[in-house]
Amino acid sequence: MPNKLVTENMQLRDRLVQLLEQAKRNQQIMRRHQEFDLKFIAANGLRELVDSIFDTLSESSQLDVVTLCLSDADYDIRRIMADLAIDQSEFPNLLFSDREADLGLSLVALKSPFLGKFNSAKYGALFPEQVLTPVSMAIVPLMRQGRLIGFLSLGSLHDSRFSNGMATDFIEHLGSIIAICLENVINNERLKRIGLTDSLTGVNNRRYLELRLREEIGRTRRQEFSLSCLYIDIDHFKKINDSVGHQGGDEVLQQVAARIKAELRLSDALGRFGGEEFVVLLIDAPLTHALAVAERIRASIADQPVVLSNEEELRATVSIGAAELNATEPARSIEKIASELIARADAALYQAKEGGRNQVIGNVAAKAG
Ligand code: GH3
Ligand code: MG
Ligand code: MG
Repeated sequence: MPNKLVTENMQLRDRLVQLLEQAKRNQQIMRRHQEFDLKFIAANGLRELVDSIFDTLSESSQLDVVTLCLSDADYDIRRIMADLAIDQSEFPNLLFSDREADLGLSLVALKSPFLGKFNSAKYGALFPEQVLTPVSMAIVPLMRQGRLIGFLSLGSLHDSRFSNGMATDFIEHLGSIIAICLENVINNERLKRIGLTDSLTGVNNRRYLELRLREEIGRTRRQEFSLSCLYIDIDHFKKINDSVGHQGGDEVLQQVAARIKAELRLSDALGRFGGEEFVVLLIDAPLTHALAVAERIRASIADQPVVLSNEEELRATVSIGAAELNATEPARSIEKIASELIARADAALYQAKEGGRNQVIGNVAAKAG
């Protein structure tokens, strides 16, 4: 009898040790999860959040590949990224879907995490070849208020890492935290944009342009690429207002803004600077390039009449002054460099007005030094 008791006792002790170890492991897992949560919640903006999703998950969870695919039918998120000067090539594992249908039926129907073997026909959209093809994977649909906002996909080169039937609570929790954080940072960026947008034309406002100019000057100094500025002013706008009324004038402003925008790259910045004046920052563009863009803008406005909502047609023209940042500038305050660049473009604009309007003039800077 005592032998049986001893055996039982030993078994119990073993079980207890196992349970304690399990509890310790669970506690470690919990702690790690909490660390994840805190990192994601603390992320300050879109770049930091995306960075932290990729870094934290691949390192701490020892995954071979992590991708994030965001639903972005309106191109809204990508535009926000461009505004934040986040180059998509920085994040090859950040994917966008234009239409849900492009993802395939298996994915669109997925309402809870799927763990199992990778199947390229069904899940290929989430692990493009240029990223890495996993052997086993977990796909986590990111939902907000019943709406699919994207997928978080975790992949491993080991086939036993994720398999059907494994518990998914942690992964589900991770998915909901990431979905909330993503929605939050994207909404914040949208809000910031509202404060930096001109409500009449939908392009950026002066405040945005001034902030962006400072940023770009800093970048230009560090990376030594060129930066040019266009100052655009609608010719005889007072007369336009006189002939078609203030509301007609507003429509002309909207259409001129749209025509300017159509000639720019996504990385360039356009802002309404004041009444009928626009400023464009051309990133990585020397004066020769800026003059060519300015000429295209001038022609696109002069060559086609503006058609108002009451079907009235009128001709509008713009005058444009261009200036390039002098890269050999001695160290001076960014404020000063910024206001001088705008002033030089404005001086060229004045010459264009003097020269008869509907034309482009470049300001050739005297080299410093
Ligand atoms: P110039 O060719 O020399 O530029 O002549 P201009 O008449 O365009 O120049 P000026 O700067 O004298 O006039 C600008 C006019 O733009 C005056 C102002 O009433 C009008 N304006 C400013 N903001 C708005 C606006 O938001 N809507 C409309 N419809 N007109 C505006
Ligand atoms: Mg003006
Ligand atoms: Mg004017």
